[in-house]
Amino acid sequence: MRFAVISDIHSNLEALTAVLNDIDKRQVDEIICLGDVVGYGPNPNECIELIRSNCSLCIKGNHDAAISDRVVMEYFNVYAQVAVQFTRDVLDSDNMAYLASLPLIGGKDQETFVHASPYDPDQWYYITTEYHAIFAFASFQGARCYVGHSHIPKIFEAVENKRIREVSNNEVIFSEGHRHLINVGSVGQPRDGDSRSAYGIVDLERNDYQLIRVDYDYRKTQERMKMNSLPEYLINRLALGN
Ligand code: ZN
Repeated sequence: MRFAVISDIHSNLEALTAVLNDIDKRQVDEIICLGDVVGYGPNPNECIELIRSNCSLCIKGNHDAAISDRVVMEYFNVYAQVAVQFTRDVLDSDNMAYLASLPLIGGKDQETFVHASPYDPDQWYYITTEYHAIFAFASFQGARCYVGHSHIPKIFEAVENKRIREVSNNEVIFSEGHRHLINVGSVGQPRDGDSRSAYGIVDLERNDYQLIRVDYDYRKTQERMKMNSLPEYLINRLALGN
């Protein structure tokens, strides 16, 4: 069993297409999406349609939730709010219903999938430190939990559920007695100083995880954002990866 985990596409069709093409070459059995399919970017309908046809499971992100729930949007900064309003204006009713139907958490056997944290998934907590990771490790069953939300790749490890520490940002080998919390980064708006798209590949035969980076033409996404009058701040950050 080999699967790809993608997250935080944010209506960036150029990035999503590049990532799906890359995944296609790696012979995976399934693709799982951790949410935030929409928000920030210019192509929400096209991205939702690609996710619907390519992913076996898609989890709801806070931006997906904000489309149908105004309470969630109140926590957003002004740039994100402008993008949510744009998304609401252009989204097909069928795609809107799809976003509303997404689950907050999912998984099977040893794997758990959630957008922000398995600790109260609808509170959208960020897991950026070992302290945050303690709450997360206490909130899922099985060996591994995959998250997105911060747009920054990161891997925490718990040994015999006692020692929790950050071990890497791009690869890990799974072993008995070790549990992992893996942030796969972002396809459509990376924030770790690298403008390339990020996603993860999990191989349960080899027992490992690897972060993959994929080049895409962010200038095309920027042009489409300009055409749709999306905020300058959101346009510029794609080139910087921050
Ligand atoms: Zn996001």
